[in-house]
Amino acid sequence: MSNDLAFIPPAKPIIGEEEVEAVSAVLRSGMVAQGPQVAAFEEEFSEQVADGAFSVAVNSGTSALHLGLLAADIGPGDEVIVPSFTFAATANSVAITGATPVFVDIEPDYFCMDPAAAEAAITERTRAIMPVHLYGHPANMPAFEELASKHGLALFEDAAQAHDASLDGQKTGTFGIFGAFSFYPTKNMTAGEGGMVTTGSEEIARRVRILRNQGMAKQYANEMVGVNNRMTDINAAIGRTQLTHLAEWTAKRQSNAAFLNENLEGVIVPPVAEGAVHVYHQYTIRVPEGDRDAFVGALREKFNVGSGVYYPIPNHRLPSLAHFAPGLDLPQTEKAAKEVISLPVHPSLSQTDLDRIVEAVNTVAKAGA
Ligand SMILES: *Cc1c(COP(=O)(O)O)cnc(C)c1O
Repeated sequence: MSNDLAFIPPAKPIIGEEEVEAVSAVLRSGMVAQGPQVAAFEEEFSEQVADGAFSVAVNSGTSALHLGLLAADIGPGDEVIVPSFTFAATANSVAITGATPVFVDIEPDYFCMDPAAAEAAITERTRAIMPVHLYGHPANMPAFEELASKHGLALFEDAAQAHDASLDGQKTGTFGIFGAFSFYPTKNMTAGEGGMVTTGSEEIARRVRILRNQGMAKQYANEMVGVNNRMTDINAAIGRTQLTHLAEWTAKRQSNAAFLNENLEGVIVPPVAEGAVHVYHQYTIRVPEGDRDAFVGALREKFNVGSGVYYPIPNHRLPSLAHFAPGLDLPQTEKAAKEVISLPVHPSLSQTDLDRIVEAVNTVAKAGA
């Protein structure tokens, strides 16, 4: 059956002639490093995605996290509370500053960090809490804001998967001292590679601008030890073009998700918290533990439907990060890592694709994988 069906990929960046034209224009200008395109991209991102917050572009989402943490003075001796159920960049960015990532569990419905678990992990060394808006669903920010103010902690947001998501009308990336977005190709919008730090603090914005550029605000008058994490005008030109489509692509992701919610049977579909706008970077279902890998295989082999497992190994079990958490047990995280499957939800899906995804999942679920 699968042989004559075109493969439905789990993710598909949409890159068209508009991007090609925008990049060509930058190349023809002869000025390709950080310049007017980056400045315009920052301004447009601020207006459209970050509710007017300062936006500072860098070369990746990981750099956005790293420089945000450095700008907020996170370093050796500090602990930053993070979820373990996320991409390794979240904890890597903490560890690379010399601080210690402290892993806590998620709440099972929305796959985001559990505020009660975060509170239980606070020690005298805790400086900050950094939730992740995983899969494009906002973390419980009111609870984290309360926790941060009660314990005198900083609040940061890994918004790498959550462009234009919101909670109670407030955009993700505008709750904490800073938010970090990613423009990796499979994210909801791309710049080739790239990232954005959003912040309401003029001082944090200033420091990130300096840190991305060798610690210089003024040429050769370096005032901090910095790095070169600048975004190029080539990447910014792609990002600016993509930004003009973000609202339409997000709406398509949401209508695809609504169709899947309505039609999938025999699996747990992703719930949305009250007041939350989910932007479905991933559409993630749960299937019974033990059946998952066979389920993924059957979708692919029988229906040519691609899917992804984000993430099969929790951060606190990774060889690179496990030494931060000897003996730690995070039951909800472990369970999710064994049960999740992310189905295609990207804006390129046709109705025929959606119908095939539903048929595939329902057939495989009914057969017991
Ligand atoms: C993609 C991602 C990052 C890192 O972004 P890059 O642009 O790939 O460096 C960080 N955190 C999360 C949750 C991500 O999904």
